[in-house]
Formats: sequence, structure tokens, C-alpha cells
Amino acid sequence: MDLATLTLDELQKGFRAKAFTPVDVLRTLELRIESTEPSVHAFLTRDFQEALKAAEHADVSLPLGGLPIGIKDAINVKGHPCTSASRILEGYLAPYDATVIARLKTAGAIPFGRLNMDEFAMGSSTENSSAHITTNPWDSSRIPGGSSGGSAAAVTSLELPAALGSDTGGSIRQPASLCGCVGLKPSYGRVSRYGLIAFASSLDQIGPLARSTRDCAMILNAIAGRDPMDSTSLDLPEEDFTARLDQDLKGVRLGIPKEYFVEGINPAVRATVESAIKKCSDAGAELVEISLPHTEYAVSVYYIIATAEASANLARFDGVRYGKRAENPKDLMDLYLRSREEGFGSEVKRRIILGTYVLSSGYHDAYYLRAQKVRTLIRRDFEAAFEKVDAIVCPTSPEVAFPIGERANDPLKMYLADIYTIAANLAGICGISVPCGLAEDRGAKLPVGLQFLAKSLDEAKLLGIANAYESVSGWKDIVSPI
Ligand code: GLN
Repeated sequence: MDLATLTLDELQKGFRAKAFTPVDVLRTLELRIESTEPSVHAFLTRDFQEALKAAEHADVSLPLGGLPIGIKDAINVKGHPCTSASRILEGYLAPYDATVIARLKTAGAIPFGRLNMDEFAMGSSTENSSAHITTNPWDSSRIPGGSSGGSAAAVTSLELPAALGSDTGGSIRQPASLCGCVGLKPSYGRVSRYGLIAFASSLDQIGPLARSTRDCAMILNAIAGRDPMDSTSLDLPEEDFTARLDQDLKGVRLGIPKEYFVEGINPAVRATVESAIKKCSDAGAELVEISLPHTEYAVSVYYIIATAEASANLARFDGVRYGKRAENPKDLMDLYLRSREEGFGSEVKRRIILGTYVLSSGYHDAYYLRAQKVRTLIRRDFEAAFEKVDAIVCPTSPEVAFPIGERANDPLKMYLADIYTIAANLAGICGISVPCGLAEDRGAKLPVGLQFLAKSLDEAKLLGIANAYESVSGWKDIVSPI
């Protein structure tokens, strides 16, 4: 048995049956990482010795006891670098654990490694990392998606059983879809953002990427809950998100948004998603056509609100308090200007400029205020839809992973491909991407993700439906890419 191929749930069972230990698993993964990293490049840094020490003392009776979980570089882990893949945070060491990390540790998990991402989580391909490019485990000439591309690539290349990512407009679900793993974006407020480097604070959520829906539920059990350090985290009764994983699809009402199957979707992706939806109906789900009439505004609204919030959040990186500072400044203004000029990459600069523009007096009402109003309409579209259906089913991305460099000079094309994921963040609802098959693109066969969306705070139901689909998807018979 190759321990690198096992899910969190299988590893846990093995630990408890004393078939193998957390140290055995870490040693296997380190060998795996050494052989795959030269082509995948999912990690920015990792400290194997520290993880090994934690594994030696792991208490496998805890909910995630002894299980290694990779961490996106935007989430603070005390004593480790935390750069959000930006030069401006070069040399910064996290002085504290993010709440999700503290909770993983309490549950017995071993946070391991810093995983690559688009700088400040801005992007859909991980090409915006200031460090290096991560490749897609299915085809090393292609992108892994983003911004949590390192997390998705590590999980699908069997370097790690699971990882944390963050999702502001799709950054967990889209790389999960493009690499072929499961990615869950919890509802806004479900998981504390304390210790996550903020991109757009009204949209950001931390969530898991793993090789099964059950594993995502196990991680959500550990990280969810009210946190006094994040005033937007919700105080809710404790819930077991694995509780509904034995449900099937009989009688489940699945909404298909008519606005999502129009031009712009790659025909091979569309065919794969349609056959996945047919499997849901063969398994007893009732398919219902629904309408999300404000879909066409979602990309514009997102890129106004997200950039506005980003421009405010990134104002703190001034070369004084954190990370890298320009050398030999002439004066204070020169220090600010050059630290930001040298520290930020071009996509981050583009977002800061856009965000500053839409917030500037004279344009604030025309752009930002109007976008907030349309955001409300988008949220209402979902509320109306969820009166009729248990969940919405649709593609995660209109395309498969594209070749590295292909979109380098076309940011707009990159933004438009976020169409199926960003509305969930604007509405605050939960969503999950589950692998549903391979589609051919220019001679390569690449993974396609099926997305399920559910009402805010309906994660248990969402996970139940995704898990039921997973068991009929046939994905388990598709061999791992490398
Ligand atoms: N691709 C989107 C963007 O570039 C979403 C990123 C994210 O979810 N962090 O903003």
C-alpha cells in the first residue's frame, strides 16, 4: 500500500488500527515530495524536521491526530515565513498562529509547508506568484489554477492528503477543479479569517482542499466556529459536517441555472458537466431549471468590490511595518513609493489602481456604491433559487487548465473565466467543487470540476449532496496523474 495515495479518513483509520504511524506517513510523503517537486513546484518552503517531531508526539485519538495538512502562504503559522507569495513580505515570519491553524493543532493535525499562490491571492493561475510557477500535475506545461494553485497541485500530485486554501472569488474551487481534487468554500462567517492575509475582507473565506468530500468535512469540523478575533465569524451551535455524508441523491432537488450554460463555455467541459448532471438524475436527483438573472453583472461587480477592498487592505504594506523596505531612500515619500513599486507585482498594482479609482470621490457612487447594490440583487437571486431547490449544480470553471503564459497579457480573459465561482462569494453562500471527469483540450486530457452551491450555512447538506455525487461519479477509477 502506498501511504501517499490515502485520504485523511483512510490514514486516520490506519493510525487507529496501528497499521502504520504518522511518522511512516510523513517519511513516505517526504520521498514523494522529493520526486515530484522538481516538476510540480507546489511548495515555497517546508520544514520536514519540525513536522517529524510533531508526528512523533501525535495523539491519533484526536479528530485529525497526526494528519499532515499543507498551508497556503496567506495563512499565518507561528515562526514560519508568510509572504502571500509577494516580494513585499520577503523575510516576514509569522508572529502568531491564524485561528484556523490553532484549531488544526488542537485537533491534532500537523500544519506542513508553505504552498504557492498568486500574489495576495489575486489571480486564477498561480502565475502571479513572485516566487515561481506551480505546474498542473496532469500536464506540466499547464497552470494549476489559482490562486490556491500550490494547495491543489500538492493534493493532486499526492504530496499531501489535504491543504488549506482561501477563496475570495473562486480560489479554492477553481484550482480544485483544474487539478482534479475537492475544494470547499465555506459560507461567509463560518470560518475565522484571523491570521489570513486579507485580500477582500467581505469576500475572503478559508477552506479545505482534499481528495474526498469526507476529508473536507473533517477539516471543516476542526476549523469552523466563532472567534472573538474575527467579528464577522458567526456564533452558531456546533455542527458535525460529516453527519449527512451517508445520504443519497434520491429526491434531492438540483437547480440548473439557465444563464450558466450559454456561450463562452468550452464545449468539452460542457459535455463533461452535462454527463455528470445526468449521473445525478440517474441517481434519483430531480433537476429543476432555475434563473439567476443578474449573473451577467457578477464579474464586473466582483472586480469593483474586490479591488476596492484590496486597495484599502494593501495600504498597510508601506515598507515601514512589514517585510521588505527599499534601500537608501531619499526621504519618507521615496521610501513608501519605492518599497511598493519594488515589492508588488504587476497584477497587484493593477488591482490597487483599479480599487483606488472606484473608491475615489466623483467615481465612488457610480462604481462602488452601484456595485454594492447589484451585489444585493445577486444575493437575492440565490435566495429566490434556494426557495425552490436544495442546491445548485453547474460547472466550476468554463474551461480546463490552460498552457502557462497563454493569458499573460490578457487579464480580462482571466477575469471572465471566474464567472461561475465569484457569485457565491458576493452572496456569502457555500460552494464545493468535485472532480467529474476529464475533457480533451489540444491533445491533453484534463480534469473538470462539478460545482454544487447551497444556501448560506447549509454546508452539511452541501457536503452530503457532493459526497453522494462523488460516490457515483466514477472519478475513483481515474488513475492519479503522476
Ligand atoms: N480569480 C479571482 C481573482 O483573481 C479570485 C481569486 C481568489 O478567490 N482569491 O480575484
